[in-house]
Amino acid sequence: MSPKWGSPVTHLVAVLVHTPAHSQLGAPLTYLSAQPLAPGTLVRVPLGRRETLGVVWDRSETNGDPALDPARLKAISAVLTGIAPLADHWRQLVAFAASYYQRAPGEVALAALPPQLRDLSERQVQRRLQRKSQPASAAAPGDPSPAAMALSAEQQQVMEQLRTHDGSFVLFGATGSGKTEIYLQSVQELLTRDPAAQALIMVPEINLTPQLQARFLQRFAPLFGFDAVVSLHSGMTNPQRLKSWLAAHDGSARIVLGTRMAVFASMPALKLIVVDEEHDPSYKQQEGARYSARDLAVYRARLQGARVVLGSATPSLESWHHSRPKADGGRYLRLHMPSRIGEQARLPLVRRVDMNHQPRHAIIAPPLLDAIKQRIAAGEQTLVFLNRRGYAPVLQCGACEWKSACPHCSAFRVFHKIDRSLRCHHCGFAEPVPRACPECGNLDIAPVGRGTERLQEHLAQLLADVRRPGSQTTDNPQGAPVHVARIDADSTRHSGSLQSQLAQVHSGAVDVLVGTQMVAKGHDFRRITLVAAVNPDNALFSSDFRAPERLFSLLMQAAGRAGRDAAISGQSEMWIQTHQPKHPLFEALKRHDYPAFAAQQLLDREAAGLPPFSYQALLRAEARTQEVAQGFLAAASNAASADLAQLPGFDLITLYPAVPMVVQRVANVERAQMLIESPSRVALQGFLAAWHGLLHTIRQSEASRGLLRWAVDVDPLAI
Ligand code: ADP
Ligand code: ZN
Ligand code: ZN
Repeated sequence: MSPKWGSPVTHLVAVLVHTPAHSQLGAPLTYLSAQPLAPGTLVRVPLGRRETLGVVWDRSETNGDPALDPARLKAISAVLTGIAPLADHWRQLVAFAASYYQRAPGEVALAALPPQLRDLSERQVQRRLQRKSQPASAAAPGDPSPAAMALSAEQQQVMEQLRTHDGSFVLFGATGSGKTEIYLQSVQELLTRDPAAQALIMVPEINLTPQLQARFLQRFAPLFGFDAVVSLHSGMTNPQRLKSWLAAHDGSARIVLGTRMAVFASMPALKLIVVDEEHDPSYKQQEGARYSARDLAVYRARLQGARVVLGSATPSLESWHHSRPKADGGRYLRLHMPSRIGEQARLPLVRRVDMNHQPRHAIIAPPLLDAIKQRIAAGEQTLVFLNRRGYAPVLQCGACEWKSACPHCSAFRVFHKIDRSLRCHHCGFAEPVPRACPECGNLDIAPVGRGTERLQEHLAQLLADVRRPGSQTTDNPQGAPVHVARIDADSTRHSGSLQSQLAQVHSGAVDVLVGTQMVAKGHDFRRITLVAAVNPDNALFSSDFRAPERLFSLLMQAAGRAGRDAAISGQSEMWIQTHQPKHPLFEALKRHDYPAFAAQQLLDREAAGLPPFSYQALLRAEARTQEVAQGFLAAASNAASADLAQLPGFDLITLYPAVPMVVQRVANVERAQMLIESPSRVALQGFLAAWHGLLHTIRQSEASRGLLRWAVDVDPLAI
């Protein structure tokens, strides 16, 4: 095709493509097309020597292109005609995310589309679409939906508020207060009332999606058909993801369940977004465009006129601070469900064990061990929670200074006894444990500290003489030894292993479960009546100002695993082993008093000028040496003071000095960062936008030659 300038059949179209991160080619590129193409249309275009997927964008955003030479423009290769153009609001969401998180719109847009759409040719996509258009399976006949439960008084009140208000909500509900039932009934009301409407339900972890999907399918497949509920997360195969994405895009999927990536799903009739466990750090993407899916969900809801419900027993302090119990100008309307469902289903009793008064070096305090034994005798289960996997965090020589440092990182390698390896949790470098000290040859090298693997071993030893109570069933014979199981990232490396391990716990075959935060989250363990946190003190003294917030929510969530069965929760308990029994965090936890904890934290944050009373961004740099990494940051800081001093709001910006990151070296790469802070989000955004061009220029300078990467992290979660 040889298009002629001004020829009536030739049109200029702007197309967004994925250009390499940080290349200045952020703006859409201009192509020729035989027909006019609506913004949002998916196309394939030549880019360099490749052909790639692109999204037709607004012409006005192509930086003007005053001297476009039509003779040099290339033509679009193909239009994906079977897929309706992406809606305006979807493009607005992408544009906002790109500008807010300081990335190229093309990167954000293309990352938001399913991988297969990017990789398949136009013809292959057509074939997928044909396959998909085969008749969908209808609602399961004669299989009535399990009746929606009669709601508790608290649930009814919340439903009423959701019906009568628009906008954004924080659903502050205790674990087991029936939040999920609220999600289900809100979705049901919406989908029944509006035959086109769609709902998006987000959860923090892939592991939680099967359970949730089962619950939604059971409720909604009989009403709206099996194809009405789809999932979207990175654990799915690419064909599955494409299928779900297409179903959401054409509206046939009424309900999308997914992890953070689902916030970008194309859902033309989206009317309700739920962000469950909204405080969870995994809603923040930690690479590429470092977006917060929770914050984007709130923005997106506004774009599409949808309601958004942020659910949690321990809302993030940001969400809490901006929510009000009455619709009087707070950003969110706060809905409260303090009680657990069921007459006797009280929250577990929290008991603190003062480790200062326990035998020195005790890992499990004797009274806790007795409590565990009592639960075993009663046929109940215990969850022992330790947020550190592996056997021991470090291996040490008894004769010299040697420790199991990682040669590539400024961190120790963790001892994993199960395969006798030393593994670095930062770079992945693994080696067999040496027979003797590599420095002095001493044979006496010993583990220091404790991870879940060692705790499991220790508990099995402590409980070696204990026998399970008898039962009629063969798999639980009288006098069998106690079963101590472990669930963490190591024990669940193989696909399907988490599900089978959870099934074991549910079946009652496990007496004591040792686990990391992985088991503290979400799972509905009916027989666990005792939860113990063996060593939570570290977070009290962390340099990360968010550590107490995270600890509190983790412990509340872990406590929420206990006593979920109303019939036995009368006696459920959570034990905290601590050297700081009087710490206000534990005092608040004992009373299950999140508002008191939040109030105290917010006072501290306000006094220190920390979020949510200020807004932060990090500039990160990586290089082979700290000098180069910090040099880039220092140059960036100097350039800001020199060139941006006249910028409106610059006086509201604080640029902190460049410092090494906490784990300064990972995989032989030196890492440094610089904090930028402002009491005004608008000022911070304005500054970052103006700074961006300068950063590119500094990157090109001679001094930055050794720089490997740089990135801006807006609203960072870990400083
Ligand atoms: P959350 O999401 O707040 O932890 P769930 O929605 O999972 O709580 O509810 C906890 C348990 O209570 C579940 O087993 C659920 O089926 C049950 N449940 C929720 N609402 C009701 C209700 N109105 N009547 C009876 N049982 C309920
Ligand atoms: Zn040694
Ligand atoms: Zn390493």
